[in-house]
Amino acid sequence: MKIICIGRNYIEHAKELGNEAPTEPVFFLKPDTALLQKNSPFFIPDFSNEIHYEVEVVVKINRLGKNISEKFAHKYYDEIGLGIDFTARDLQDELKSKGLPWEKSKSFDGSAVLGKKFIQVTDLPDPHGIKFSLQKGDEILQKGNTAEMAFNINQIIAYVSKFITLKIGDLIYTGTPSGVGPVKINDELKGYIGSQEMFNCKIK
Ligand code: MG
Repeated sequence: MKIICIGRNYIEHAKELGNEAPTEPVFFLKPDTALLQKNSPFFIPDFSNEIHYEVEVVVKINRLGKNISEKFAHKYYDEIGLGIDFTARDLQDELKSKGLPWEKSKSFDGSAVLGKKFIQVTDLPDPHGIKFSLQKGDEILQKGNTAEMAFNINQIIAYVSKFITLKIGDLIYTGTPSGVGPVKINDELKGYIGSQEMFNCKIK
């Protein structure tokens, strides 16, 4: 399986990092070794002094597809989850300034937190109106609604599948809303869809 991540998909977040609103989806990949599941702790790697959380709605692909049209994209997923796209922001800023690929800052071990629970799309009123949040104790760090995406789930599937064949079990991290920030040791991050806890992640 592969992990496809969408960048700059919420305009307020693109702006907070000083990026232009994209005119087409921006995507990058993480390897399967990036996955951090079962509420496992995240260990801050020694190559970064600035790991940022980015809470994101995750779409699980359930059919093989290539060149999927937007009209049929909804047939390629039936479950929605939640995760974190951990980012070594200091490294990413350095790579961006040199025009180099982001992988070192985005694709390291443990950088793709994934909640255990997935919600059936049929149990959601609308996959394009999912409210989600990231909290630390009582503090809400990030709050989003998939209605605010620059490119919605079906548009993302259509776009990515022009370039890359999607396979059963592939995951798409659909981008983060504004409010990203650094983690520190002993933080405990919890992700929610609506009021349902989807994951918790202790920082070590
Ligand atoms: Mg992200």
